[in-house]
Amino acid sequence: MSNHLFEALTAFIPDMDKPFLTSAEGEVTSYRAMMARSAQFAGALGKLGVQPGDRVAVQVEKTPEALMLYLATIRAGAIFLPLNTAYTPAEIDYFINDAEPAVFVCDPARADALAETAQKAGARLETLDAAGEGSLRTLADTMPDQYETQPRDADDLAAILYTSGTTGRSKGAMLSHENLASNSRTLVKVWRFSEDDVLLHALPIFHTHGLFVATNCLMMAGGSMLFLPKFDLDTVLECLPQATSMMGVPTFYSRLLGSEAFTRDLVSHMRLFISGSAPLSAEVHKDFSKRTGHMILERYGMTETNMNTSNPYDGDRRPGTVGFPLPGVGLRIADATTGRVVEQGEVGIIEVKGPNVFQGYWRMPEKTAQEFRTDGYFITGDMGRIDTGGYVSIVGRSKDLIISGGFNVYPAEVEALLDEVPGVAESAVIGVPHPDFGEAVVAVLAMRSGASVDEETVQAALQDKLAKFKQPKKVHLLDSLPRNTMGKIQKNALREQFRADFA
Ligand code: AMP
Repeated sequence: MSNHLFEALTAFIPDMDKPFLTSAEGEVTSYRAMMARSAQFAGALGKLGVQPGDRVAVQVEKTPEALMLYLATIRAGAIFLPLNTAYTPAEIDYFINDAEPAVFVCDPARADALAETAQKAGARLETLDAAGEGSLRTLADTMPDQYETQPRDADDLAAILYTSGTTGRSKGAMLSHENLASNSRTLVKVWRFSEDDVLLHALPIFHTHGLFVATNCLMMAGGSMLFLPKFDLDTVLECLPQATSMMGVPTFYSRLLGSEAFTRDLVSHMRLFISGSAPLSAEVHKDFSKRTGHMILERYGMTETNMNTSNPYDGDRRPGTVGFPLPGVGLRIADATTGRVVEQGEVGIIEVKGPNVFQGYWRMPEKTAQEFRTDGYFITGDMGRIDTGGYVSIVGRSKDLIISGGFNVYPAEVEALLDEVPGVAESAVIGVPHPDFGEAVVAVLAMRSGASVDEETVQAALQDKLAKFKQPKKVHLLDSLPRNTMGKIQKNALREQFRADFA
């Protein structure tokens, strides 16, 4: 038996001397160096007592070494467990207790605050900082640059990623070697990644988007990455001329559009821009194509399922949609309560099935059972519809659905119209408690710089376009909308902020 995922990732290395990644400082890690460094880190994990099946939890800044640690964990047959760098020690305590990793790697600046947490859970605490230095690095430097990669099966776990847990406790989604390998294989094909690709990588690597979609795809294709620690507008503008492709969250694209230096000439050589993790507004999509001539390719996925749908590489990339189910992915729209498949074009809950779908939530068999239908479909919690052309659109998370006076209001429909109001940069539509209606529709807007709008203008713009019950009963203006690091608007924070609007 081989190591299912690592073998898939390294099956096609066109040239060992070719750059695997180039850092922001221009430092190149060749494929040969990647093999050697990941061998050393795998050796270090072994030295620390990590056995196949153990968890290796990691909360560190994005560096080439952190990526080597991911590959090393896979090579050691262990389970990679990345944690958002924004989590506080109090939050980390929950994850470490829940996952019981053999080793926990954190930033040296946090080692003191996290020592007790690690000790309680029986985890060895090691460090790695933003320069790729730390106790783990020091140990890895002493290890041989050859390593006998541990055998792992298609069904063995490769990673546990905790969901953001906006409602209730955060859950650890267990992903197998084949969950990850099969999805990357599909994406390389449908997005035509090849050894000629240089991906601009400015996403975090504690999340499925930057870790699996971006890294695994490029590796499997034998391409290269410009590996930036984060999205910094000036650095990205500087690096774009060397890239062929880019993956980003929608805010990356709106920030690029906000710069005059982002011109058609700068990106005329690019092959592909991909967006996901949060809805790309049709406005940004259209502005982007007007400015650059490129149609952004929007796709849809989640931690539990990897990628589910994608707009086509060839053919019409439709703004406001997430395209078609990927080959091998079954996708249907069902009634949230009865589970019955709805009529064509109707809104319901999106359910998916395929080799991409996770193995369940870590140590939560009951929660896992609740989220699967008996025929194996996973209930995503996203509401959507499929149009006559087969394109899937997302209308919002089911928990963001607003029920006002007994009628369903899908935030995405209202937001799309609000985004068209002159001066509006972005919008979020939420439901807040209302004495008569149960919930009332409230619009929260962030304006473009220098622009302003009054409530009447907003109401007038929607008046003829939306049924009365969908129209906001109140409009708030904020300087910016609260977002998490993946660019998702934090609607629960907004609901909290405006919960007394009609009290
Ligand atoms: P995460 O597990 O953090 O990747 O979040 C997954 C969720 O992000 C999905 O369940 C969707 O609600 C949302 N999402 C991802 N991609 C898109 C997209 N292209 N459009 C709208 N929502 C998206």
